Amino acid sequence: MASPDRPAARVRREPPRFRPVSVRRVERSSPRLVRVTFAGRELEGLTIEQPAASVRLLLPSPGASELFMPSWNGNEFLLADGRRPTIRTFTPRRVDPEILEIDVEIVVHGSGAASEWAESAEGGARAAIAGPGRGYTIDSDAPGFLLAGDETAIPAISQLLESLPADRPARVHVEIADTDARLTFPHHPGAAVEWHELPAGAPPGAALLGAVRDTDIDRGIRVWAAGEAAAVQRVRRHLFEDRGLPRAQASVRGYWKRGRPGDVDGDT
Ligand SMILES: Cc1cc2nc3c(=O)[nH]c(=O)nc-3n(C[C@H](O)[C@H](O)[C@H](O)COP(=O)(O)OP(=O)(O)OC[C@H]3O[C@@H](n4cnc5c(N)ncnc54)[C@H](O)[C@@H]3O)c2cc1C
Repeated sequence: MASPDRPAARVRREPPRFRPVSVRRVERSSPRLVRVTFAGRELEGLTIEQPAASVRLLLPSPGASELFMPSWNGNEFLLADGRRPTIRTFTPRRVDPEILEIDVEIVVHGSGAASEWAESAEGGARAAIAGPGRGYTIDSDAPGFLLAGDETAIPAISQLLESLPADRPARVHVEIADTDARLTFPHHPGAAVEWHELPAGAPPGAALLGAVRDTDIDRGIRVWAAGEAAAVQRVRRHLFEDRGLPRAQASVRGYWKRGRPGDVDGDT
């Protein structure tokens, strides 16, 4: 029982279960982005209704090839030996409920459990998928859209471009840390895409913030932005404080945190 000097252990609602899958295909969407197709009977019933949603990917611990399923202890998932499992969040880029496949696209940014796993992933490798986490509700009455993100947002921006009303303009700003990250987005008749290379030594988000600052945001335009947590916090402040944008007009999400491995999800 809780007492004033011994607070009750925190109990959180158990998140969606992990569904065991295995790698069916590995392709490159760009030299910086690996598209991994997972398949498995357990994907039955996994439906993703909104673009820019999320799934959690459970991978073998770094250096291991065997996958151990964690259990929920009321607060977090833990492996049987008490260690934290390797769990990262990705955009479910394509889900095919007929043939029970799901694609995620993973940025190969260097040293990170998922990035390194994706560099060498091969058919048959075991993993597990949980989700989905909520995505973005498109306001079909909006006069236009501004999409802004770094490389981790490329899969979500691709999906958004496939889903936005075709007769509305969409300005797209993408910050890339490497020129090889450029790719061809799905065609949207009203899209104007600009790539912004991050200058060497600049903190993540510096080029993105500059691009958003330089963009006219007409009345009613809906803004979607995602990227490094501190960077998108600056974008958020710029939109809401400098420009006075109504909060309901923008969705700004932190996708990763510089210098910190693991999951992050800040939202507006
Ligand atoms: C809702 C949501 C959707 C997301 N969708 C995608 C997606 O579709 N594709 C995708 O690649 N990522 C996506 N991300 C971001 C992804 O979860 C993180 O980048 C994650 O940290 C990558 O795991 P890792 O094991 O490679 O690196 P970690 O082990 O988590 O981190 C190791 C180090 O690398 C740094 N780091 C992490 N990511 C990057 C990066 N992209 N560039 C440079 N340094 C980095 C960390 O700060 C840390 O210092 C999404 C995140 C969220 C919350």
